[in-house]
Amino acid sequence: MMNDDFAGELALATLGCRAGVEPGAEYENSPPIYLTSSFCFDNAAQAAARFAGTEPGNVYSRFTNPTVRAFEQRLAAMEGGEACIATSSGMSAILTTVLALLAQGDHVVCSRSVFGTTVSLFTMFAKFGIDTTFVDPTDNAAWAAAMRPNTRLLFLETPSNPLTEVSDIAALSALAHAAGALCVVDNCFCTPALQRPLALGADIVTHSATKYLDGQGRCVGGAIVAPAALVEQKFFPFLRTAGPTMSPFNAWVFLKGLETLQLRMDAHSRSAAELAAFLQQHERVARVFYPGLADHPQHALAARQQSAFGGVLSFEIKGGREEAWRVIDRLALFSITANLGDTRSIVTHPATTTHGRLQPAQRAEMGIGEGLIRLSVGLEATADLRRDLQRALDA
Ligand SMILES: *Cc1c(COP(=O)(O)O)cnc(C)c1O
Repeated sequence: MMNDDFAGELALATLGCRAGVEPGAEYENSPPIYLTSSFCFDNAAQAAARFAGTEPGNVYSRFTNPTVRAFEQRLAAMEGGEACIATSSGMSAILTTVLALLAQGDHVVCSRSVFGTTVSLFTMFAKFGIDTTFVDPTDNAAWAAAMRPNTRLLFLETPSNPLTEVSDIAALSALAHAAGALCVVDNCFCTPALQRPLALGADIVTHSATKYLDGQGRCVGGAIVAPAALVEQKFFPFLRTAGPTMSPFNAWVFLKGLETLQLRMDAHSRSAAELAAFLQQHERVARVFYPGLADHPQHALAARQQSAFGGVLSFEIKGGREEAWRVIDRLALFSITANLGDTRSIVTHPATTTHGRLQPAQRAEMGIGEGLIRLSVGLEATADLRRDLQRALDA
C-alpha cells in the first residue's frame, strides 16, 4: 500500500489517514486492536531467535505490539522522522529520552517555560547527577551562555504554555550541534500538522499524545520520534527493560485521532485566532498572548516555522485572581479542567492550577500573573464561544 519512498511526497492529512497500517488477514479497513500481552512461536528455536532479536517479530507487548507499532509508524511518517517509540504518557516520553541518552555528570539546558511537570522532572534528575539550567526560551544568547562542556541536551517547547512564547528551533538546533549536543522539541502544542521540528534541524521530537494527537480527551500517552539509530540503540532497549509502555487500546485511539489531526488543528487555529482578536479589543482585557497576533513579540518567527498558530491562547484580565476566577466561573461552554487539546473548549487559571506548585517568585519571573486565563479552544462553533466569552466578561 505505502512504501517509504512514497511517504515523503504525501501531504500530512494523507499520511494521517494512511501511513503505518496495512490490511490484515481479514482485509479489515479500520485497524484492529491486538489486546494480547504475549505472542506464540512455532517452535523453541523460533522463540529463541525472537528473544535474541535475530528474527523480527512480536514477542511480548511490553516492547512489541502491532497496534502500538502502527501508531509509531504513522506518527514517525507525519513528523518526517525515521522511527518512533510510543510511551505510556507524555512525561514518560521525556523520562525515557533523558534516562536513555544521559548519564551522571551530564548537563541539560531547558526552556524555563516548559510544561510545569517537565520543570519538576528535570529538577528531580539533579539527585542522579544530571543538572539542568533553565533559560528564557526566546533569548538565543541566554541559551548560548548556559552551555557547558558537558551539555548533552537542549530541551524546548514552542509555543510555550501558557504564554505562547516562541523559540527559534533552527537556531537552537544549530547551537546544540556546534556543541555536540542534541536538540529535543516537545511538539505537543503544534503537532506535526502545524510544525515539523525535525525539518527545522531538531534531532528528537517528544509528544504528549494525551493532547491533540487523541484530540478528544480520552487517553493518556506519549511518543518519541527520533533517528532510527537512536531508537534502536537507546530508546527501544530502555523501553524493553524499564517498561513505560503504551497500551494497545490507547495506541488504537491515538491512531484514529491522527486520521483527523490536520482537519482539527486547522479548525482549532482558525477559531483561536478569531477569539484572540475578539479578546484583544475587549475593555476588560489587559493583554492577549497568541502567536497569530501581529503584536506578539515572536509573530514573524512563528509565521516562519509554523503553518498556523494553534488552538491555545492566554489573556490577562484587568484586576487579579478574584476577577479571573469570576470570569472562569461564568463561562458555560468552557470546561474547567487540567487538559488541553480537546474538542471541548477548556479554561484554566494557571497561577492556581498548572503552575500552582511553583514559587510566586518563579511565576513572576515567567510572567504568569493572578489575572492570567488560558483557553484551549475546542471545536464548538466559534460564534457560540465568542458569545460565551462576551457574556462572562460583560457580566
Ligand atoms: C501535558 C503535557 C505533557 C505531559 O504529558 P502527559 O501525557 O500528561 O504525561 C508534556 N508536555 C506538554 C507540553 C504538555 O502539555
